[in-house]
Amino acid sequence: MRAISFLAVFFLFLGACAPTTQRVEVDPKLAEKEAEKQREIALTEFRKDKRRLFAISYPVLVGGKPLCDERIAPQVGASFSSIFHFPEEFRTAAKTVFGDGDELRIALVVPGAPADKAGLRERDLLLQINGTPVPKGEDAPKAFSKLYSEAAKGNKNFTLDVRRGEEEIHLTITPEMGCDYPVLLANDDSLNAFADGERIVLMRGMVRFAQSDTELATVIAHELAHNAMEHISSKRGNAMVGLLADILASIGGVNTQGTFSRLAAGMYSQEFEAEADYVGLYIMALSGIEIEGAPYFWRRMAAAHPQAIQQGGFLATHPSTPERFLALEKAVEEIKQKQADGKSLRPEIKK
Ligand SMILES: [Zn+2]
Repeated sequence: MRAISFLAVFFLFLGACAPTTQRVEVDPKLAEKEAEKQREIALTEFRKDKRRLFAISYPVLVGGKPLCDERIAPQVGASFSSIFHFPEEFRTAAKTVFGDGDELRIALVVPGAPADKAGLRERDLLLQINGTPVPKGEDAPKAFSKLYSEAAKGNKNFTLDVRRGEEEIHLTITPEMGCDYPVLLANDDSLNAFADGERIVLMRGMVRFAQSDTELATVIAHELAHNAMEHISSKRGNAMVGLLADILASIGGVNTQGTFSRLAAGMYSQEFEAEADYVGLYIMALSGIEIEGAPYFWRRMAAAHPQAIQQGGFLATHPSTPERFLALEKAVEEIKQKQADGKSLRPEIKK
C-alpha cells in the first residue's frame, strides 16, 4: 500500500515537471558549432588546472629528491603534446586552442624551472634535440621521451631547437634532478588522489578543492611519500598500471566517471597513511614550502566533505581521526625545531 501511494506521488511530480511552454527551435548546424566551442572550453579549462598542478608539483618533486633514493631523473619542468594526446573528437578543438598538429609542441612550462630559464615557451614547436630531428606522428611522444632520456642522461646539458612563429630558436637546457614520478591530472570530479608506485594521480575535484598552492602541495607531497616509502607492493602496483593505462591515455578531456576513486579506495593501511602524512611534511619542508597550514587542510577537508568518508573518497582511505591531526601538528613542531636548529630535514627512523 505504501509503495502504491509513493508511486502516485512520484507520477504527480513527473506531471508537474512537464514543460508547458513552446520549445525554442535550434538549427542543428549551430548546435554542432556550439558543441565544438564547448569542447574548446573544456580543453582550455583542463589545461589551466594542469598548468597549476604541474607548477606546484615541480618543486615538490625536486625538493623531495633526498627521499626518493634511486628513483630520480633529470627534470626540466616542461611537458609536450600533439593531437595524438587527445581523443579523436577533441582533435579539431586541440588544433584550434593549442595549435596542436601531428608534431610535438611544448604544452606547459613551469615558471623558474630549467626549461623556463633556458627560454622555452608554451606552444614552441620541437624541431631537434641534441641535433637529432624530433619525430612526428602517433609514436612521436614515446620516441621523443627516449631521445630526451638519452640527451639528459647523467643530468647533462642538452640542446633543443624550436620554432616559435616564423623564428627558429636554439636553446641549451640545464636539467636538475628530481623524483621520477610524473604527476597527472584525471578528469574526475571526486575529492581524491593516489599514488601507485609509478606515478601520482590527482582528481580534478581535489585540485579545485585545494584552494591555496600550499594545500595542493600538501596532497602532492603526501602521495609522493607513498611512492618514496614504497608503500605499494610491486604486484598490486602492476595490476594498477594495467587498469590505468587506458584511462590515462584518454585524459585529454574525457571524464573518468569515478573510475579512479573506485581504484583508489582502501589502497593503503592506516599505518602507511600515517607515514605518508609524516614523510609528506618533510618533503614539503625540503621543498621550501610552508608546512604550518598542512594539518588544517586535512581538517578543512574532513569538515567540508564528511560524505567523502562514506563514499570511498579520499577521506575513506585517509582517516580523519583526531589522532591524525594531533600527529600532524606534532610532526610540524618536530620539523620547525629542526629548521630552527639548522639540522638536516630527514624523517626520524624507527629504532
Ligand atoms: Zn594516502
